[in-house]
Amino acid sequence: MATQPSTEVVEQPSGKHRVVVIGSGFGGLFGTKALRHADVEVTMVAKTTHHLFQPLLYQVATGILSQGEIAPPTREILAGQRNAQVLLGEVSAIDLAAHTVTSTVLGRSTITPYDSLIVAAGAGQSYFGNDRFAEFAPGMKSIDDALELRGRIFGAFELAEIGASRGENVDHLLTFVVVGAGPTGVEMAGQIAELAHRTLKKDFRAINSRHARVILVDAAPQVLPPFGRKLGEKTRSELEKLGVEVVLGAMVTDVDERGIAMQFKDGRVERIDSVTKIWAAGVAANPLGRTLSEQTGAPLDRAGRIAVNPDLTLPGHPEVFVVGDMIALDNLPGVAQVAIQGAKYAAKEIDRRLRSKPSLGPFTYFDKGSMAIISRFRAVALIGRFRFTGLIAWLMWLALHLIYITGFKNRLTALLHWFVSFIGRGRSERTTTEQQIFARSALGRLKHGAADLVSDPGAYDAARALLETTRRAELEERAAEEARLTDSGVRGVRVEHQVG
Ligand SMILES: Cc1cc2nc3c(=O)[nH]c(=O)nc-3n(C[C@H](O)[C@H](O)[C@H](O)COP(=O)(O)OP(=O)(O)OC[C@H]3O[C@@H](n4cnc5c(N)ncnc54)[C@H](O)[C@@H]3O)c2cc1C
Repeated sequence: MATQPSTEVVEQPSGKHRVVVIGSGFGGLFGTKALRHADVEVTMVAKTTHHLFQPLLYQVATGILSQGEIAPPTREILAGQRNAQVLLGEVSAIDLAAHTVTSTVLGRSTITPYDSLIVAAGAGQSYFGNDRFAEFAPGMKSIDDALELRGRIFGAFELAEIGASRGENVDHLLTFVVVGAGPTGVEMAGQIAELAHRTLKKDFRAINSRHARVILVDAAPQVLPPFGRKLGEKTRSELEKLGVEVVLGAMVTDVDERGIAMQFKDGRVERIDSVTKIWAAGVAANPLGRTLSEQTGAPLDRAGRIAVNPDLTLPGHPEVFVVGDMIALDNLPGVAQVAIQGAKYAAKEIDRRLRSKPSLGPFTYFDKGSMAIISRFRAVALIGRFRFTGLIAWLMWLALHLIYITGFKNRLTALLHWFVSFIGRGRSERTTTEQQIFARSALGRLKHGAADLVSDPGAYDAARALLETTRRAELEERAAEEARLTDSGVRGVRVEHQVG
């Protein structure tokens, strides 16, 4: 049987203005939702089926929250929005001349035409050119990352228990290194310290979890540089009170299975033996920025972010908006509010154009402030000129995150889990599986990832058709035999066998 083509072109039958949104993160979801009253057909193309609340990934990694609480299904969120549909697929090409987006899932490609496009594909982890570090020091960008880290963190304590009961040295298993002292690194280091000193302290027999070392390393001379010197100092001293060792001015030069090497400004090189390393150091904008840059001439900065016009469109392409972590505009930070506000602005602008209303003018960002949690009841917040620390900042963090977690049931269960972890000592989500670490690594070694594990769509259809033909012939033959037995009167007639 001939192999079927695995590329499909999706046309909108309604004849309405077609908006394609790439990504289901903060930009993608809020942009799509902002178009709910517009006279358009929206297609959100995203490579995951969920909307991810990245700021709480570290709580999934350390067993406080489940992945479902921070990653509700996009289809469910948009179920009531009649003008929106969701298409699963990783966008591999954007053709600005043809106005199409090509996305692929497990070898099946879809070409989706658009009249307006909002690109909100976010950013990934950057290992500053040392991608081989990723295998030994996972980043913190996706649910897969968080679950792998959960497996590695809790797994290290388990292996240490086995080793210690045999009298082996387990220091390398009980040493956790977090690379990058930005908000994510601070949050991870604080949580691992809490795990070791509070949550796990009664759970083991051969090891004392409180002896675990948590080391936060950064090449910068201070913790949380964007929060300013004062809050950086405060955060550092709070971390040290929790038992975290803060190593600043140290650039990580190598990472392998057994540990990391770091170099100080004076040239000194030190090595830390550690099985569990977490990379929270750098970000690189989504590679789709490069294809947009090549087609428009818009430059990319060092982090791969594309320079956009003040109204977030691309040069020569007023129908294409780029928002969130992918853009370089006025030194805007890579935070959720930049993506949310940018996407809402783009949606509004599309709607106004369709209604022949004047343009909104340049995009302006309203800075609502920044926060980082250090541990339970301790956080720092910078809102305008005002600095908050300790319990007040922590309560502000709690309120804000509850507001922004999507979905009522997620808010309720997150609150319950926070109660368990912050008031009590427990963590409700400590389950880990071998798949989290080993299956992921195995997939990573396949040339085309998961696509290598499924047959190509044409081959699958051909195999199924052959199976159906064979099975049908078998069934027909059996039915004919049954009928023959009945019609010939043979069925039920005992045949006497003569013995001897
Ligand atoms: C661990 C962590 C903690 C953070 N904490 C905070 C915080 O406390 N406060 C704050 O304001 N910000 C925080 N941020 C930053 C914030 O999450 C980002 O700035 C924000 O998510 C950017 O939104 P976005 O829409 O640009 O990208 P994202 O939210 O990353 O969304 C990108 C979307 O695009 C999809 N995608 C990517 N590539 C493709 C493709 N080729 N095809 C199809 N879909 C694709 C992804 O699956 C995703 O759905 C944090 C980030 C991380 C990683």
